[in-house]
Amino acid sequence: MTHSRDARPAAAPFAEITQREDALVRADLKAHGWPRALAASQQRQDAMAGLIASTLTPPLACKAGCAWCCHFKVEVRPEEVFQIVGHVRAKFSPARQQALYDTASRNAATLQALTPTQQLSANLPCPFLQDSQCSIHAVRPARCRTLHATDVAGCQQAYEEPQNLAIPPSLVPALVLTGEAHLQGARQAFAEAGYDDGAQELNAALAVALADGRAKRRFEKGKKAFV
Ligand code: SF4
Repeated sequence: MTHSRDARPAAAPFAEITQREDALVRADLKAHGWPRALAASQQRQDAMAGLIASTLTPPLACKAGCAWCCHFKVEVRPEEVFQIVGHVRAKFSPARQQALYDTASRNAATLQALTPTQQLSANLPCPFLQDSQCSIHAVRPARCRTLHATDVAGCQQAYEEPQNLAIPPSLVPALVLTGEAHLQGARQAFAEAGYDDGAQELNAALAVALADGRAKRRFEKGKKAFV
């Protein structure tokens, strides 16, 4: 696995990114509400990642049609789940929404029957994976925006040997660190504004949010969304 030697100098300090994002999201939450605050935060994360990626040697190996990492467990924040559900309601046919609910429910049940360690090697395809592409790319979770690799071999090996948790990932440290810092800042801002900031497993949260319209209302009232 290779990591870019050029990546680290491009990354601003972790705490600085977190503080800046916290302040920006807090201001947006106050002025515009959570959907716009989240969308603006995602745009900033993509812009920062794009800037860092443009400095990498070797360049990123990630491209459309490469989906090894879309078989790993994904953690999401409540606001991300409700943004995704809004996108699904607007873009997916009723039949596709039902199929999505069925898959997410099945995946959630499978994962819930496993230990945390077993979950890491379950290799379940993300319910949004279609023809090896993300069908919700514009609203994909922050975690999916954070993981980028310069060598696809490690991603493929992790998929083909899911029990082997010792495989070193080929992720780009600067992108992982800055992405996590950004995510932390956004999460802090939502929590400070009184929103539920509990991390959720994507399939389980999706199944609840698709089936229970009250989940979003609970979230918007500052209550636990997924009960
Ligand atoms: S949401 Fe999209 S990018 Fe994230 S794991 Fe699912 S298919 Fe992959």
